[in-house]
Amino acid sequence: MTGRDETEALATGIRRLVLEQSKRAHVGHIGSCLSVADILAVLADEVLRGRQPDDPGRDRFVLSKGHAALALYAALHLIGQLSRERLETFCTDGASLGTHPEHVVPGIDFSTGSLGQGLSIGCGSALAARLARDRRRTFVLASDAECNEGSLWEAVMFAAHHRLGNLVAIVDVNGQQALGYTDDVLSLSPLDARWRAFGWDVHEVDGHDVGALAAELSRLDPDGGKPHVILARTTFGKGVSYMEQKIEWHYWPMSDEQYSIAISELEEGMVA
Ligand SMILES: [Mg+2]
Repeated sequence: MTGRDETEALATGIRRLVLEQSKRAHVGHIGSCLSVADILAVLADEVLRGRQPDDPGRDRFVLSKGHAALALYAALHLIGQLSRERLETFCTDGASLGTHPEHVVPGIDFSTGSLGQGLSIGCGSALAARLARDRRRTFVLASDAECNEGSLWEAVMFAAHHRLGNLVAIVDVNGQQALGYTDDVLSLSPLDARWRAFGWDVHEVDGHDVGALAAELSRLDPDGGKPHVILARTTFGKGVSYMEQKIEWHYWPMSDEQYSIAISELEEGMVA
């Protein structure tokens, strides 16, 4: 396989594990995980440098939308950082693999889940790298609804003020949040102009096109002064037809029949 084929296979593998493990544990957040599967695959396979979790020079990753933790666990397993045995503890009593990520898990740099907070963590990480004269970069994956949070915009201003070119925010623009569509709850439009007005280098891309994602991420200049944001246009629940753009799949777990359909669709290659 080519490198790009490997990334697409990784994305499909993440989706399969998300379906398997959420079914076993009978938990939700499936749609959010499917939304970011391609983004995580590109980051894990083509972008983040330093795969060893104890390498101090590794790029840092913050899953600000912590409720998509299962997709991150799946990625960590598929790149060899999390054992199958440990993955199977997801959402079992006493396990450290919960519905939100905790930094006690190797490969998880920061505990997250309080929405709107991850970019602030990323700012601290990026500024620390600069002070240490370390070339490592920090990547933050946030939801679009986190852009409703005042705390996020504080971080946006801080990063621009300190010219944190080693900071990359990726916004999963799926147009949904827990209880509604973003256009109905609190409109974000025009999202690109808002980030640009705050002094960021702004890019928009199809968040399911691994080639386009990788290309955009490879072109970002860490020394250009401006922090970078990728507005990744995605489909909530991507790859499972009955979940796509459906609000209820933020929380719902699957029935046996729904699980069977989801796996069938994955195997039929309906995933982009
Ligand atoms: Mg969203």
